[in-house]
Amino acid sequence: MKRDEIDAKTARDEGVPRLPLSPAMPGAEVRSIRVSPDDRTVNRIVALPHPARFFEIRFESIGGLGAHAAGQVLATAAVLRMGLNGAHFSSYGSEKKGSLVRSFVRLGPAERPIRTSAPVETPDAIVVFHAALLRNPATVAGLVKDGTFIYNAPPGPVPVELAALPHTARVMRVNALGIAVEEKSRPNAVLLGTLVAAFPFLGADRILEALTEEFSGKHPEAVASNARAFQRGAAEFETLEHVGCAEGDLPVARAEPVWGYETQPVGGIVPEAGNTAWNDLSASRTGWLPVLNREKCIHCGLCDLVCPDFCLAWGEGEKGGTYERELMGVDYRYCKGCLRCVESCPTGALATETETPGLADRLRVPLFPDLIR
Ligand code: SF4
Ligand code: SF4
Repeated sequence: MKRDEIDAKTARDEGVPRLPLSPAMPGAEVRSIRVSPDDRTVNRIVALPHPARFFEIRFESIGGLGAHAAGQVLATAAVLRMGLNGAHFSSYGSEKKGSLVRSFVRLGPAERPIRTSAPVETPDAIVVFHAALLRNPATVAGLVKDGTFIYNAPPGPVPVELAALPHTARVMRVNALGIAVEEKSRPNAVLLGTLVAAFPFLGADRILEALTEEFSGKHPEAVASNARAFQRGAAEFETLEHVGCAEGDLPVARAEPVWGYETQPVGGIVPEAGNTAWNDLSASRTGWLPVLNREKCIHCGLCDLVCPDFCLAWGEGEKGGTYERELMGVDYRYCKGCLRCVESCPTGALATETETPGLADRLRVPLFPDLIR
């Protein structure tokens, strides 16, 4: 479905009068007045880019990087500090930390209720919290042709996957993890800063106030570092040219189950034994990975005992040598970066290193080289 059709359907579902679509109205002004719960009167002219429809943002992330908190801060600031209507929710996988998280924010003028809680499928902005997510085509799906795509990565070559973006889309890159590590913050504060720089109508001061309020209760020690990370995110991004090649709005991706009631094997059995070999947990790492120094390794196997995903690759020891089996390295395809192996290693042979682009691919020792290289 095209964006216009989806807007029309949403309006019908909500039973609200359909406003005429006017894509040529960017920057039109909407007056929004509301009294916030703490009796502060919000009285501000907020310029929404498309006043005839909601402004929609999708955060693509993995558990632990703070996408849910970022969405909450953004929607709270919009409702309580800008007089807008806002809605926010997130969808998680089976476990929060390390699994895919999508967080959705819808903003609109105070006069227009937001009654849908459907996932944002045709976003005006997509913010990607981890570069490994770019391998999944669903990450970019549905971006409108004049949309904004922000992703977390250090300077360097642009991933080939981004050619799938509309050529008319704005692409911004910020080293959110690097800044977050330096400021002892999290990537969400940095990416919120970049988002606000991309869309000044969001109001940096309001978002920063909401971010401060979010942390001042439970984590007051994080307030100053978050503020620095936010400000650096708003200043230290790059706008990349000539990235996307696609024409028009990107198609919406709706995941279809591989098997449904008509096609599943009788009895619900899994007929493909060993199919988890095709899993790829790379996106679960949050910036660090274990790196083996074989000189220090005594092949005791303690790391293998604690690894939850059997990522450690073993091979034959040297003929006539001390060890029958020797640790060869890590298959990072299955490593989610929990670093339990590092904690348990008695000799320091496994150490934590910052994950830079391509490092895991260079050091990886494949567990199933005949199957997956
Ligand atoms: S725990 Fe350390 S020393 Fe023991 S096998 Fe693993 S890496 Fe080698
Ligand atoms: S960090 Fe270590 S223990 Fe954790 S998944 Fe990776 S190899 Fe296994």
